Amino acid sequence: MRRVSIFGATGSVGQNTIDLIARTSEHYDVVALTGAGNIAQLAQDARRLKADVAITAHAHLLEDLRTALAGSGVEAAAGAGALQEAATRPAEWVMSAIVGAAGLAPGLAALEQGATLALANKESLVCAGELMLRTAKAHDARLLPVDSEHSAVFQALVGENMDAVERVILTASGGAFRDWPVEELAHATLAEASSHPNWDMGQRITIDSASMFNKAMELIETKEYFDVSPDQIEVLVHPESMIHALVGFNDGALMAHVGPPDMRHAIGYALHWPERRALPVERLDLAQIGQLTFRAPCETRWPALRLAREVMQTGGLAGAVFNAAKETALDGFIAGAIRFTDMAAVVEEVLTELSAKPGHIDATMTLDNVAEVDHLARQEAALVIKERAG
Ligand code: NDP
Repeated sequence: MRRVSIFGATGSVGQNTIDLIARTSEHYDVVALTGAGNIAQLAQDARRLKADVAITAHAHLLEDLRTALAGSGVEAAAGAGALQEAATRPAEWVMSAIVGAAGLAPGLAALEQGATLALANKESLVCAGELMLRTAKAHDARLLPVDSEHSAVFQALVGENMDAVERVILTASGGAFRDWPVEELAHATLAEASSHPNWDMGQRITIDSASMFNKAMELIETKEYFDVSPDQIEVLVHPESMIHALVGFNDGALMAHVGPPDMRHAIGYALHWPERRALPVERLDLAQIGQLTFRAPCETRWPALRLAREVMQTGGLAGAVFNAAKETALDGFIAGAIRFTDMAAVVEEVLTELSAKPGHIDATMTLDNVAEVDHLARQEAALVIKERAG
């Protein structure tokens, strides 16, 4: 029996993880499942998988969770402290699929207890990549990528020597607005931005795909995860989302990872690693697909890519500022306070503002400093949004 926990169990990645685990549940001893607002789903899965504990991040929902779990024998808990406590419960494999910077602290706690951390929460590496990697090393823990692009790179690198790697190419579908005239992007609605042409994901990452903030985060993740320099990482628009990433080697070879746009592949690879096991994903019929297309990304359409390169160049806590400003700008767009194209402008303004003040972006990377910079960046972003909305 393998002891596993799923943080963000009620979300898109969490539900795909549960789908895989539930198929052979006799092999898993589920320790903790966590969610936030979706109490019904959390309780249903905790009962089905006989979890030790179910936790909602929202303290005020504890009674609802208790009621939903009544008679099941599953412990109920709530709040950030309970999430942290759950991450310290011994588990061999932990899925980190909370959305946003809230996923960082539980992920670190899981690494501190030596778990294998399957990392979907891209914010962890963007905000605190060096801290995550340092913590994993210190506790003999393992970080495995779950983002499909990084899983693809990870798989293309099996048996390879990093010295032979010339470049890493991340593909991007281009999201909802890849074919829109650039001048119309400012008028994009929330509903239009929330619909992805290929992937079925949570709302926030879907909007981040349309703005390319998602790919921008992945650029930073790639630098952290694979220790490659920013100029070795490229983005390629590939509307069909069949090739998830490519690695270019010094003999001119490009190793591409091809598969259907189904997160259960990357999740399953991380779940069974280092083995490869059968997964319930579609088998591609390339003859039927006929052709795959590629184009260079346009930085006028997607300024987030330029901002990510600036963040990588700056280093330090710039990633934490970038992420916090992006999350706040995204909240602003979802709330209707700013336009779609304002999100990148807000992030740029916050980065410029906080870079000019010593003691923030250049502070040592500790969890406390990341939290402080995150807080400041959110405050600053809220001010910028207010100015723009007014
Ligand atoms: P969802 O929005 O679908 O799910 C997010 C999960 O986090 C839910 O369980 C949600 O609970 C929980 N949650 C929300 N807010 C908080 C909080 N403040 N504290 C604790 N838990 C919280 O997101 P996704 O599954 O799409 O994405 C999860 C992570 O994985 C993100 O970092 C995303 O960028 C990354 N990712 C996602 C991919 C995808 O295909 N979806 C692909 C690659 C990476 P509840 O629903 O109960 O409110």
